[in-house]
Amino acid sequence: MSKIVIDETKCKACYLCIKECPKKLIKVSERTNKLGNNVVEFCDPKGECLGCAMCATRCPDLAITEVYRG
Ligand code: SF4
Ligand code: SF4
Repeated sequence: MSKIVIDETKCKACYLCIKECPKKLIKVSERTNKLGNNVVEFCDPKGECLGCAMCATRCPDLAITEVYRG
């Protein structure tokens, strides 16, 4: 099963990753980081992540640090 790892401390809440994910697996969280931003979270209960890394490629702050392809 593929998955991503998000470094919440770097997230600036631009939400470009949400728009980019073809499976709509990234959502706005209710948590905020030290920058005061509502960070994003990976939500994939059905195991749909493709491991395509489009989210990581799109993130301007390199906050999506790992993509595991499974
Ligand atoms: S693209 Fe990066 S900085 Fe923007 S919301 Fe997603 S993880 Fe956060
Ligand atoms: S790797 Fe691809 S499918 Fe998985 S969360 Fe990122 S954009 Fe979505």
